[in-house]
Amino acid sequence: MTHDVIVIGAGLAGLASARDLVDAGLDVLVVEARDRTGGRVESETLSDGRVVQLGGEIVGTIHYGYRQLAAELGLNIVPSYTEAEGLTGYDLVDGVVLGEDWLTAEDQACLESMDAELVRLAKLIDPADPLNTETGRSLDAMSIADFARANGATQCALRSLRLSWVYTGGGSIERLSMLGEARAMAAVGYHSMRDYGMWENLKVEGGSSVLADTLTALLADRIRLGSPVSRIEIGSTCTVTLHSGEVLSATNILCAVPVGPLRDIEIVGVSAERLRSLHRQREIPAFKAVVPLDEPIWERVGCNGLIPSERDTGGFWVQGGSVLSSLNGPELIGQIRNAPPGVADEQLLGTLRRVCGDIGDPTVLWRYWGTDPWTQGYVSHWAPGDLAAVGPLHGSHEPPFYLAGSDHWVAGYMEGAVLTGRHAAASILGRDFDLYPARYSSESRD
Ligand SMILES: Cc1cc2nc3c(=O)[nH]c(=O)nc-3n(C[C@H](O)[C@H](O)[C@H](O)COP(=O)(O)OP(=O)(O)OC[C@H]3O[C@@H](n4cnc5c(N)ncnc54)[C@H](O)[C@@H]3O)c2cc1C
Repeated sequence: MTHDVIVIGAGLAGLASARDLVDAGLDVLVVEARDRTGGRVESETLSDGRVVQLGGEIVGTIHYGYRQLAAELGLNIVPSYTEAEGLTGYDLVDGVVLGEDWLTAEDQACLESMDAELVRLAKLIDPADPLNTETGRSLDAMSIADFARANGATQCALRSLRLSWVYTGGGSIERLSMLGEARAMAAVGYHSMRDYGMWENLKVEGGSSVLADTLTALLADRIRLGSPVSRIEIGSTCTVTLHSGEVLSATNILCAVPVGPLRDIEIVGVSAERLRSLHRQREIPAFKAVVPLDEPIWERVGCNGLIPSERDTGGFWVQGGSVLSSLNGPELIGQIRNAPPGVADEQLLGTLRRVCGDIGDPTVLWRYWGTDPWTQGYVSHWAPGDLAAVGPLHGSHEPPFYLAGSDHWVAGYMEGAVLTGRHAAASILGRDFDLYPARYSSESRD
């Protein structure tokens, strides 16, 4: 039989799009490589019954699309780690500091003036067409560190910037495009990605996996698990070939797999320009470590559980209760991934011991997303020059070939997955859908 739409990938983008298409009365089949749905949203239930999140976890006020979907599904949104009381515990190369006192008034003023300059520049950027101005083109050629130096960043202001990106697994600020940052800010009402109070202040009650599970339950009979796709052919009738050799057909294909695994799929019938742009995108690799503790040990030293590290890890934040999360980017993957058994745990927990003292001997849960064949990364990565190289076709559809997934939005958040999924579904249905709703939402503006 020929379906109206085959959705490839049952992450948030694929699930959100399939829900809208099914609601509109279309015959939809979702094919998923793994034996579970959710993609980069994944949970594990511990032996004591606690459910921990091993992938995407937090959202923010400016994640308007995600919050809208959660509301439609009847899910509650609750405060995240940014609301925790206490001081941030910095694990710096020259010692542990609680609070911001390692930054002088001059450093703080420097960070504030850089943010103000960034807001000014972001206001000149159209997130849907970021390279259409000279400002956009010159920012793309520049790294975040270049921008900071050009704006007179002090040494400690630079350290603060480095910590922000290491702590969120984003990698070195020497290798991140300033336009990537400005575009993300422009998309959400001009909030710096370091403004965690707007980007990361919320989460779904019960954990982010609840949202994916709720969508899965609604679509259960439409989803085929364990069905990796190896080939897509676009035509008047489109075909999708599974690794098993089985061939499925549909009028439209909605491809919602990350850009890494997507390069492994043979695609026929899509223009060379569209494919070149798609294949030029990349994700940054990362891994997540989760440390379930018996009690919130950080509170003993007056810390809020937010622990950025310049040393052996990316740092920690409170996932919930007495569970800590740690996100570690490319600089740490090679070293920690290849460490002998036990050494990686000691390296990770060393940061906690320095800041919190005696933490006992907790078990660490490791999730290596960068080497997972169905993710091959963590979130989209925009190095200097990447936006220009990917070009204006980024995120665009070539009907009946539609694209969705957080890689096709401005930044890698779950927000991007939901918005692009719903945008692709709306495009198939001939409806309008705004990819940047936060821009116009009064609560997202200063
Ligand atoms: C460790 C980690 C922490 C994160 N933290 C946050 C956070 O706190 N907040 C936030 O908003 N975002 C966070 N993110 C990012 C967020 O989770 C992702 O951007 C989002 O979930 C991506 O959704 P997606 O649907 O675009 O892609 P995915 O979730 O990756 O879904 C793609 C699906 O395609 C499937 N697939 C791949 N190849 C094939 C194939 N050949 N055939 C069939 N199926 C295939 C995959 O198995 C997967 O299910 C985090 C990500 C990671 C990895």
